[in-house]
Amino acid sequence: MKLNISSEKKLENGISIPKLGLGVYKVPEDQVYETVLSALEIGYRHIDTASFYGNEEGVGKAIRDSGIAREEIFVTSKVWNDDQGFDSTLKAFDRSMEKLGFDYLDLYLIHWPVPGIFTDTWRALEKIYHGERVRAIGVSNFLEHHLESLSKTAINMPVVDQIELHPKLSQKSTVEYCRKNNITVESWSPLGRAKYLNEPDLVKIADKYNKSVAQLIIRWHLENDFVVIPKSTNVLRQKENADVFNFAISKEDMAYMNQMDEDLRIGSHPDSIKPVSQ
Ligand code: NDP
Repeated sequence: MKLNISSEKKLENGISIPKLGLGVYKVPEDQVYETVLSALEIGYRHIDTASFYGNEEGVGKAIRDSGIAREEIFVTSKVWNDDQGFDSTLKAFDRSMEKLGFDYLDLYLIHWPVPGIFTDTWRALEKIYHGERVRAIGVSNFLEHHLESLSKTAINMPVVDQIELHPKLSQKSTVEYCRKNNITVESWSPLGRAKYLNEPDLVKIADKYNKSVAQLIIRWHLENDFVVIPKSTNVLRQKENADVFNFAISKEDMAYMNQMDEDLRIGSHPDSIKPVSQ
């Protein structure tokens, strides 16, 4: 698979998303500006934030100050659980846009499938999409049954599902459903939040390619056709995570890594999300 840092994937609605992005969860507002600027300098053109991360202002400012045209950078944000519902989602979107300081967003996601209300939230995303303030809309942490339920009322289906994915959690049924329905899968906590970087099996494979385990895992996501958004505030690690385009994982090693799944989650299970009192 020939790829480079600018490689993109076409979403179902025709727009393109860079396959490698930078995640900024847990990056404090006072650090996010430098973090995003250094990533852009390295060549990242995709930033994944959310209102919940509390750092949209710094993300927006870094992008505006970078000297890179806004259209060349793909930015994602997400509506948080407490803001779900039709009217409150519209307001939450406005707040995110104000903080980011943009006149359009590239991708807006429902952060989690809050029971009983995510279909209303989705109607708001469709309205924002049809008002042309966002280039694509999608979801995060939706399992097959959430997507099926959304399909009953949706005018536009999500073009992206951003889910927790790494070699220890392969989420096969959700990934399969997304592939069948042309929903692009994006991997969050793609490095398993650095928990599995010393796994002997992974170290052995990475050594074969003269790569770090982080690089091996990022390449594994790309070879599986997932969009991948590793987070790092460290310039050297940002560079390392982007240096994954000069090798390819053999079929045998891909097959091996694809069966390392132990259903181990770092984040919440999507079905554990409680309804929010409105
Ligand atoms: P990641 O799997 O990206 O791991 C990040 C951790 O790994 C950090 O501690 C980082 O430390 C460390 N790290 C990064 N690169 C390396 C490396 N090369 N070698 C060693 N350690 C490394 O976890 P995240 O949870 O941050 O997930 C990525 C992004 O996904 C988030 O930032 C966010 O944008 C998104 N996300 C979405 C969620 C959702 O519900 N939709 C939930 C969680 C995340 P350091 O910074 O010091 O380098």
